[in-house]
Amino acid sequence: MKKVVKFGGSSLASAGQMKKVADIIRSDEARRYVIPSAPGKRYSDDTKVTDLLYRCYDAAAAGEDITEKLQVIENRYQEIIDGLGLELSLKEEFELIQDYFMRQAGRDYAASRGEYLNGIIMANYLGYRFIDAAEVVRFDEKGNFDEEQTNEVLKQRLKNLENAVIPGFYGAMPDGSIKTFSRGGSDVTGSIVARAVRADVYENWTDVSGVMVTDPRIVENPEAIETITYRELRELSYMGASVMHEDAIFPVRREGIPINIRNTNRPEDKGTLIVESTCRQPKYIITGIAGKKDFCAINIEKEMMNAEIGFGRKVLQVFEENGISFEHTPSGIDTFTVIVHQSEFVEKEQSVISGLHRAVKPDSIDLESNLALIAIVGRGMKAAKGTAGRVFSALAHANVNIKMIDQGSSELNIIIGVRNEDFETAVRAIYDIFVTVQL
Ligand code: ASP
Repeated sequence: MKKVVKFGGSSLASAGQMKKVADIIRSDEARRYVIPSAPGKRYSDDTKVTDLLYRCYDAAAAGEDITEKLQVIENRYQEIIDGLGLELSLKEEFELIQDYFMRQAGRDYAASRGEYLNGIIMANYLGYRFIDAAEVVRFDEKGNFDEEQTNEVLKQRLKNLENAVIPGFYGAMPDGSIKTFSRGGSDVTGSIVARAVRADVYENWTDVSGVMVTDPRIVENPEAIETITYRELRELSYMGASVMHEDAIFPVRREGIPINIRNTNRPEDKGTLIVESTCRQPKYIITGIAGKKDFCAINIEKEMMNAEIGFGRKVLQVFEENGISFEHTPSGIDTFTVIVHQSEFVEKEQSVISGLHRAVKPDSIDLESNLALIAIVGRGMKAAKGTAGRVFSALAHANVNIKMIDQGSSELNIIIGVRNEDFETAVRAIYDIFVTVQL
């Protein structure tokens, strides 16, 4: 059994957290390859080391003296080192960093030092080999991640290593300069290491006990999802559920490696298992609920629209020409609605309307803004009857008017549109009817 374990910033924010992490790793000898993030927030209005590094670098680039700013960062690490009782000194590392900052080695280099230094501490504390991600994670000369080359290099490098710490978030370009993934990118590093070593599971340790059925900012203490498929997760993430970095899914998914989201502060919780497919019955008919506000519906009416072949294509072409992607297109006999993100649409609104008049000569065009979309997702819905009925009656009881309904052909999701101001009430009502009443 081989596990790759990635720990997020809050799991590594202090010596106390690092000790928990080490206990977790030591409690299972399959946990052989460790991917740390940079130290995150210790309390809610704390600042992540990555952000401190960006600020410090920006100050250096503006020609300011950075001694004090860098000292704050060094102190954060020193506190961790002291708290763990290590003999380690990062003095020389920090001298080098200061030098590189003054020589403007790049923002990516600056940000990467957060995980690099944390990796050194972690490896020292665990007695594991430290591998600088710059040696094994490759980007091409254009700065695109080179997945195949990275996979080969990592495979070779880790082949005979019992265990190792590889810092997340960054790698190097062919000329050796440091390049990072986008924010939250340590998830990606964990995933590519899991692929390279053919891990049995990729454990992603964070500060929540898995993926929640819905947003905890809307429903207090929602249930965690036990098992979710990649497809379900994609539907939920697309509609705003934040779980992990999007690009972290592909490397492991392709290899059929499951991801287990776990909680460093509650290691006894099983967390959420993300899998390609499963015969495990979901606990509830629905797996999750997610949603977003601020969509706009463009309602186009034209008598005898149904007889006009190519009407839909012409409408969508106008959106394409204006560089706007559409979300949904509910339609009736003489009506055709296009739902788009308000923020993408607003600037081009008049150009789209005149384009539509030219393209399809509608009887009328009417715009409705401030709509929220809610996705109710679940592989269990396919077999169940009355799911949509329950959604509708829950919303009727909550006094929420439904503006739009759309069910994907896979029966994996039902999307409903409501007014922005009804969004939270609607999510709570749907959660209650499927989860609370079952508890
Ligand atoms: N430290 C980086 C960030 O804050 C990367 C990560 O934590 O995954 O975005």
